[in-house]
Amino acid sequence: MVARGEDCQGDDRSALGLNVTVHASTAAGVRRQARAAASPWDLNQAICACRACPRLVAWREDVAVAKRAAYADERYWGAPVPSFGSDEPWLLIVGLAPGAHGANRTGRMFTGDRSGDWLFGALNRAGLATSPASVSRDDGQQLAGVRITAAVRCAPPDNKPTPAERDTCAPWLLRELELTARSVRVVIALGGFAWTAALAALGECGWSIPRPRPKFAHAAEVHLERASASLVLLGCYHPSQQNTFTGRLTEPMLDEVFAKAYAKRLDP
Ligand code: SF4
Repeated sequence: MVARGEDCQGDDRSALGLNVTVHASTAAGVRRQARAAASPWDLNQAICACRACPRLVAWREDVAVAKRAAYADERYWGAPVPSFGSDEPWLLIVGLAPGAHGANRTGRMFTGDRSGDWLFGALNRAGLATSPASVSRDDGQQLAGVRITAAVRCAPPDNKPTPAERDTCAPWLLRELELTARSVRVVIALGGFAWTAALAALGECGWSIPRPRPKFAHAAEVHLERASASLVLLGCYHPSQQNTFTGRLTEPMLDEVFAKAYAKRLDP
């Protein structure tokens, strides 16, 4: 039996060059460490060591020990999941939170579950990912000009972070937007939770947010400005099984969002 926390402290993260010796343990610590991050790489390091939400820390590590039977022989990541992709992206994709047996297992955003199959399938069809499959951190997957992040970095029970957990995690996303502001032209929010988190972070970064605040909808489009720069926020249903099984989100719908994003990249 592997003890709680052991999976997320071992060789896997060391192999990524991640420093796990200093961790944020409070909301104030998250704000402080996020502000101090000087690069997307620094930010990922700080995120991976975070332990600021007791309920989520316990859940992510309990899941990593209990495991799903199909992955019983695997070593779960069991820690906050870093962003994946380009450090100078034109497209930032914001998800809700890692899946318990997806990203919380593999340690890479949208990797190892059906949601990831849908997202990476669409990215590959759009020419933005080298492979339609995203199964592990060492599968060779590469993104072109794209970075995938999330509103909350730790897997939550029932995929539902509390408002307090959302707010505690928010400075990571805010800092990520600041650090990538020079290159990002389009943000895609996957679902209403990510939409709200992205709008809040963009507002804090100084982007003009329309009043009343735009509501989430699939294919919703909001143009934001800051000084002489512009950026487009697009809404897209989350590729959760709940949406894909029911046909609420189809592959053509997902492809249309990425086609629109690509067009906006050139003419936001
Ligand atoms: Fe830290 Fe965010 Fe995980 Fe909370 S959800 S422990 S703030 S990384």
